[in-house]
Order: sequence, then C-alpha cells, then structure tokens
Amino acid sequence: MNVLDRGSAGSATVAVVGGIHGDEPAGERIVDRLADTLSAPEAAGGDGTVRLIVANEPALAAGTRYTDTDLNRAFPGDADSDDYERALAVRLADAIAEADAVLAIHTSHSAPPPFAIYSHLTESVRRTVTGMPIDYVLDSSGLRGTTLDSAVENTVSVEAGRQGSQEAVEFGYEAALAFLRAHGALADEPPSFTETTIVEGDEEVPKGGGDPHVYYDNFEEIPAGNVFARDDVYTHRVEESGVVPVLASEDGYESIFGIYGRIVGTLSPPEDVEGLSDG
Ligand SMILES: [Zn+2]
Repeated sequence: MNVLDRGSAGSATVAVVGGIHGDEPAGERIVDRLADTLSAPEAAGGDGTVRLIVANEPALAAGTRYTDTDLNRAFPGDADSDDYERALAVRLADAIAEADAVLAIHTSHSAPPPFAIYSHLTESVRRTVTGMPIDYVLDSSGLRGTTLDSAVENTVSVEAGRQGSQEAVEFGYEAALAFLRAHGALADEPPSFTETTIVEGDEEVPKGGGDPHVYYDNFEEIPAGNVFARDDVYTHRVEESGVVPVLASEDGYESIFGIYGRIVGTLSPPEDVEGLSDG
C-alpha cells in the first residue's frame, strides 16, 4: 500500500483510494495524477489533509484482481491472516479511519454510465454522491457487508467506466476533483451539486455456464415479463416492473450477470449548499 498526503484547501480530511483491484489500472493513474496536481500539505491553505492511496500494489504489478483473495470482499479483514488482502484490509481501513470522506475508485467490465455506490447514507456520503457528476447511486446496504464502503462509514465507491479504458481515467479524475471540491479540500472552482437517483441493490443474478447473453443496459428498466439474461443453465425473466440492471455484463464476472436493482427515490444535496446548480 502506498500512502501520500497532500494539502487540503479547507479543514476536511479526505481520502482517495485507487488500486483496490489490481486489474483496474485507472485508480492508480488517477491517484498519481492527483498527487502531481495537488499542493504540498503546507501550501494548500487549510489544515485538513488529502490522503492519496494506492491499495494493492502486488496485484497491480501482476495485473490481476487480487493475489490471494478479493480485497473488496475481505473487510473488515484480519491482521494475522496469511491471505495478503485479508491483512491489507486492516491496514487500509486504518489508513482512512480519520477521514471525513473517502472516495474509492473502481472500473468494471460493465457498460456506462458511471455510477456511485454506498452502504451507509451519512451526511458525508450525501455530499460526495451529489457533488460528483453522476446520475445514479447504488444503495448496497442490502448486499454483502465485506466491501470497503460497508466497512468504513463515509466511504463512497465510484464505478468510473470500463476497465482499461482511457475514458474511465478521465471520468474518474474529474469525479475525484469534484469530490475534493464538494468537501472543501480543493478550491480551484466552486463545487457543483445535483440530485442523484437512488437504486437499491436487491439481489445478485447468478450465472450458470455456457453461452451468456444479457439483454438490458445498466439502469434501463426491464419490462415485466422480459428476459434480462440467460445462459445454458438460467433464464432470468423479470416478473415485476421497476427492475433495472446494475453492473450488467455477459463476460465480466465469473458467477453473476449483474445485480437486480430498483429505483427507490432521489438523493438531495446537503442542506447547507447554496446556489444549487440545476444540471
Ligand atoms: Zn474494482
């Protein structure tokens, strides 16, 4: 794990984490770019800190998602574990424990648009989500509790785009700058807040084997009675209206086609935000 501190324009202490998965190079490139862009701690004007972290360097070097076990399924971790990522989970959680807000950058095999993920809707999380240029946020509190955003309050994950794409680097970098502005850690331009549509993650859609097909894009409503995905084992027909896919992918994941979600409402910007943009 590589930890680098930069200055904050305000009092907030925030963290940006890349490289949780070693086969998602965008996060490390975004963190490197932020390290070059942001001021040294004494030159930024505030007494907060921007902590920049590259989490899983051995997996990044190997170009694999993990070395022993998936870091984002290993929280809260175990300091005594022989699994590299299980021990790393404890060190990573410690490194961001003091942060008022955390942004974890991911990319996926799934299609655009980019979106955010949270497990705990704190005021910090509200500020992060509505301060980034995204239209959708996945409330994953009903899904597994072993991810970074479920283990460390005030953490938001962002799915910045397709794995390995330059677009994901560009979008993720802009999202990270927006995150820093939203928390007052970067004062190069005013923050911009917008309402964000909340999608609740209901259940994972299992994959059986054979030729996989997915028929709907992320956040596109699947009409009742239609098939979302199928392979040689499963035909996933949706029985009720209001279901949208999240992380939909034919080949991206070994055991799932994605997640069934449901649009449950909108997240408003924090109440202290003035001059709300209407984008
Ligand atoms: Zn990831």
